[in-house]
Amino acid sequence: MKIVSTASEMHELSRANRAPGCRIGFVPTMGALHDGHLSLVRRARELAKFVVVSIFVNPTQFGPKEDFSKYPRDLQADLKKLSSLDIDCVFAPEPGEIYSQDFRTHVEVEDWGKRLCGSTRPGHFRGVTTVVAKLFNIVTPDVAVFGQKDAQQAFIIRRMVRDLNFDVEIVIAPIVRESDGLAMSSRNRYLSAEERRSATVLFRSLQKAQTLVGEGNVRVSSIVESMREIFDREPSAKIDYIEWVDSTTLEPIDEVEEGSLLAVAAFVGSTRLIDNWIVPAMSRH
Ligand code: AMP
Repeated sequence: MKIVSTASEMHELSRANRAPGCRIGFVPTMGALHDGHLSLVRRARELAKFVVVSIFVNPTQFGPKEDFSKYPRDLQADLKKLSSLDIDCVFAPEPGEIYSQDFRTHVEVEDWGKRLCGSTRPGHFRGVTTVVAKLFNIVTPDVAVFGQKDAQQAFIIRRMVRDLNFDVEIVIAPIVRESDGLAMSSRNRYLSAEERRSATVLFRSLQKAQTLVGEGNVRVSSIVESMREIFDREPSAKIDYIEWVDSTTLEPIDEVEEGSLLAVAAFVGSTRLIDNWIVPAMSRH
């Protein structure tokens, strides 16, 4: 497992390992790795012969009042976790390697970055698409794996890839959860013991929606109302949004459709958590 910290060295390494029938697989992360990240790495391992994982806490996707400076960073622990997964390279640049002082070029998927999480986190998705575009140019992957945990992010990246003709296949891997249903997240470590208990409310509200849909309910407003009632019983959690959108447009829908995205964001204490459910085929009666 080679550890690379400069863009030029990473470029070289990818170039040297590109060969017919040898796909380059890529998993971008911000580190503080957990089993959710590792599941993406395993998926990439299945899909590609040469696997690169990046660890980069991207400053441009954090708002001025967000947790950039306190975001957990532990490269040694991350490398240890990755060393058991038979990957080829970890790309772990410093911010100055990615953004020069006079950096001026950004990539933005218009409108989509303002919806859902974008309304609370202005500029966030512009930071994400910019860094992912840069990482794609540096790593030059054939396939990149993203988590459904950040469904809006994955859909936006898919759109960027389509709109800008990146030659990269985007694979979206399922959400990995703790045993009580909480979606794994590097930010879960901010939660106090009490908040950790409350944090399952996101998953519980999604489960309620699944049950209602399974029983044949299709009216989004009434299902969301039932989800809000679950949050009402958890005073330390405050809903940021619950939205049900068409996955291809991110536009709100009134009636549940197969493939649509039910996305939830909530503050538990001061920690903002997200979770979602994509309605599978056949779950409607
Ligand atoms: P992050 O380090 O938070 O930027 O996440 C890096 C990648 O891991 C993104 O594609 C996330 O969607 C994915 N990811 C984070 N948490 C999970 C999870 N619980 N299950 C699956 N994928 C995840």
